[in-house]
Amino acid sequence: MSQVFFSSIDSKKHKSPLLKISKLLNRCNPQDFFTKGDLIAVKTHFGEYGNTAFIRPVFLRPVLDILNLLGAKPFLTDTNTLYVGMRTNSVDHLHNATMNGFNYSTLQTPVIIADGLRGDNSVDVPVQGELLSKVMLAAEIASSDGMMVVSHFKGHEVSGFGGAIKNISMGCACRKGKLDMHSDSHPSVVQETCTACGRCLTFCASNAIDMNPKAFITDRCTGCAMCISVCPHSAIQINWNASSATTQKKMAEYAAGVFNALDRKLVFLSIILSVSPACDCYPGNDRPVVADIGFAASTDPVALDKACHDLVIKAYGGNDPFKEKYPNIDSAVQLAHAEKLGIGTADYRLIEVD
Ligand code: SF4
Ligand code: SF4
Repeated sequence: MSQVFFSSIDSKKHKSPLLKISKLLNRCNPQDFFTKGDLIAVKTHFGEYGNTAFIRPVFLRPVLDILNLLGAKPFLTDTNTLYVGMRTNSVDHLHNATMNGFNYSTLQTPVIIADGLRGDNSVDVPVQGELLSKVMLAAEIASSDGMMVVSHFKGHEVSGFGGAIKNISMGCACRKGKLDMHSDSHPSVVQETCTACGRCLTFCASNAIDMNPKAFITDRCTGCAMCISVCPHSAIQINWNASSATTQKKMAEYAAGVFNALDRKLVFLSIILSVSPACDCYPGNDRPVVADIGFAASTDPVALDKACHDLVIKAYGGNDPFKEKYPNIDSAVQLAHAEKLGIGTADYRLIEVD
């Protein structure tokens, strides 16, 4: 059984949420995971510009304080997105992070986009999964000495909910890895939108794009997803054709790869506030499905996600708001598969921390 430490947002004593986060993380014994001189990735999600449900930057202050007190050297990090938006390459991504309040002047901590300028700086990490034998992780995450994972717990249109497992799987993969989880095939060109400018051909390392008279992707494609980000007209589309169950299983296998790469040196904090029905990758957000709940921390991402989900269900009167929103998605798949891979257990004890 794993321990999940929880602090409600409610506070009769007007206690600061920052103090609560600090207490929760200290209950996870971060000194057992991080030590002086370690380069520690603080993995979060900077939120697509326009969205306002993402984690407030100030919640990272106690996280960084703990790491600094241990003598570690934290850096804030995320990876570039698969789809075209404000976080498709590291230049736009850093502008986006700055505009949303994640920058050196606000948090006195360097921000590093972990998978390189165009999302292709990655390392392969072996896993013994049911679907995958290797995962393709963002290089700067794989080479860090450990990771503090700060996740916004919310609904998600692909996996039912997105929490700690999603953050260390989709969130730690390079672009090719994200495509690998989302799709069973390579991208395709929308002929009506393509202007035949030829830019994608120059970026395709596999020489997999032919022009006749517009661009089309051949079976030489290796699914690196580079062309998606470089097309100036957004004419190259992802085939979101993997089933939710397959994507969730692959997510769990990517999470296992992160545990392997970082020698299990991970501590998790989840923020259960502004529990929006969909991902923070959208440039907007709908109203939360429940009132603000609080904060939870654990060294076990499976237990943590299960506990957060149970807290949301309880706040929703015993029903699952994500199941109502996405009736065809069984969000338990990611937990069951992660448990099978030895990342953690859904059997947890919730310990309230005042
Ligand atoms: S970069 Fe886009 S518009 Fe240009 S040829 Fe390729 S698919 Fe067509
Ligand atoms: S996904 Fe990669 S390999 Fe496939 S066509 Fe695009 S750039 Fe080429």
